[in-house]
Amino acid sequence: MEKTIDEKKQGNSLVMEPKAANSRKLFIESYGCAMNFSDSEIVASILSKEGFNTTQKLEEADLVLVNTCSIRDKAEQTVRKRLEKYNAVKRINPGMKVGVLGCMAERLKDKFLEEEKIVDLVVGPDAYKDLPNLISEVEEGRDAINVILSKEETYGDISPVRLQTNGVSAFVSITRGCDNMCTFCVVPFTRGRERSRDPQSIVEEVNDLAAKGYKEITLLGQNVDSYLWYGGGLKKDFKNATEIQKATATNFAALLKLVAEAQPKMRIRFSTSNPQDMTLDVIEAMAKHRNICNYIHLPVQSGSDRILKKMNRLHTREEYFTLIDNIKKMIPNCGISHDLIAGFPTETEEDHQDTLSLMEYVKYDFGYMFTYSERPGTMAERKLEDDVPEKVKKRRLQEIVDLQQKHSRRNTKQAVGTVVEVLIEKESKKSDAHWSGRNERNTVTVFPKENYKIGDFVNVKINDCTSATLIGEPIGYSDNN
Ligand code: SF4
Repeated sequence: MEKTIDEKKQGNSLVMEPKAANSRKLFIESYGCAMNFSDSEIVASILSKEGFNTTQKLEEADLVLVNTCSIRDKAEQTVRKRLEKYNAVKRINPGMKVGVLGCMAERLKDKFLEEEKIVDLVVGPDAYKDLPNLISEVEEGRDAINVILSKEETYGDISPVRLQTNGVSAFVSITRGCDNMCTFCVVPFTRGRERSRDPQSIVEEVNDLAAKGYKEITLLGQNVDSYLWYGGGLKKDFKNATEIQKATATNFAALLKLVAEAQPKMRIRFSTSNPQDMTLDVIEAMAKHRNICNYIHLPVQSGSDRILKKMNRLHTREEYFTLIDNIKKMIPNCGISHDLIAGFPTETEEDHQDTLSLMEYVKYDFGYMFTYSERPGTMAERKLEDDVPEKVKKRRLQEIVDLQQKHSRRNTKQAVGTVVEVLIEKESKKSDAHWSGRNERNTVTVFPKENYKIGDFVNVKINDCTSATLIGEPIGYSDNN
């Protein structure tokens, strides 16, 4: 799966409101991508109807659920460590049940029940509606598992319970699964085929969020640009759709337009884009609608054509450059970020230099950068030897990180002296006298609180910066309030 802005978040325990009295207590934590955090809100919604309220105290939980990530071995090790912690608590509270959700559940299936004796419940990403039945099984003393991947499930009919919300920004899921089969990626195996959610239910959710005072939404999917609604069903089956279905189908550009026009005061973001699937009409929709933020997370993974081919990324370096040129031409002030992998099998110094030169061309705002981590069951694991020594992977990664730092600093410096619109999201971590929010390009911006409050759109004059943060002074409300 492409990495997203929130993907590096550590696990968060989540709180749901409102709390009813005398109910069972659910402790739920999420690891990995924004999609997992969004799914946990769906799970909380399903279980709230079963009388579960969330708690932040692991010790008092009746049910502990961990929503897991399989993208890297490190992510899986983090979950294993959490299971050890749950085990320690279970010794004090033996009635506590433990369930594993998400990609690790799907990847390991019943092996999880064998390997981790603490686990009572294993539930894949498409089976959350079955949770009430599975919990009943567990309560009757049986282990329970459902890892069936669905061709239809989008949870479009579930109204998520917003967890640990700032009341300003929310995720809205629009697609599930991925059909791309990049050779290093487990997502097609853990999340199944691409399905899109009914645009009407997406617009309704966005309208509901606006009515509740939310100011920004992020449309989420493993591959948002492949969004296609023609009445339901897999994207790959679109060729069998009727003429009417084809004529009235909604693609991602049309969905963006629908959402942006339904709520013109709301900021719209989306993640994640896949270069081979991003079309010009998406860039046009962004350029045309002021409320669609000028920011694209556009993972490239490598700058070498040879490696891109081995990764089964279905675009070339030149095609990526053409896409970047089009973005910069149509949206001159567009922030762009990336994912890059250092040390993919067979990567040579020349391939690595191609990655660095691609970065020089684009000059990304920021990126998510990793050494290659072989994932069991992927095509790369089956067909390619993980032959780049760890030391070399680490050195190449450091060179990528250093170059990114240089470009990030260059880009933030360019903002000094300008005025940017910031949506206030929270108090600055470093100072309780400052607010923190993001500008349209997704750059974190801090400034003195004055009389502004969370959820305000404020024009901020930028006076200083670090490589990751803009520092400024507020000069008034923006006209978006
Ligand atoms: S586009 Fe590739 S990397 Fe992203 S989720 Fe799909 S298979 Fe994984």
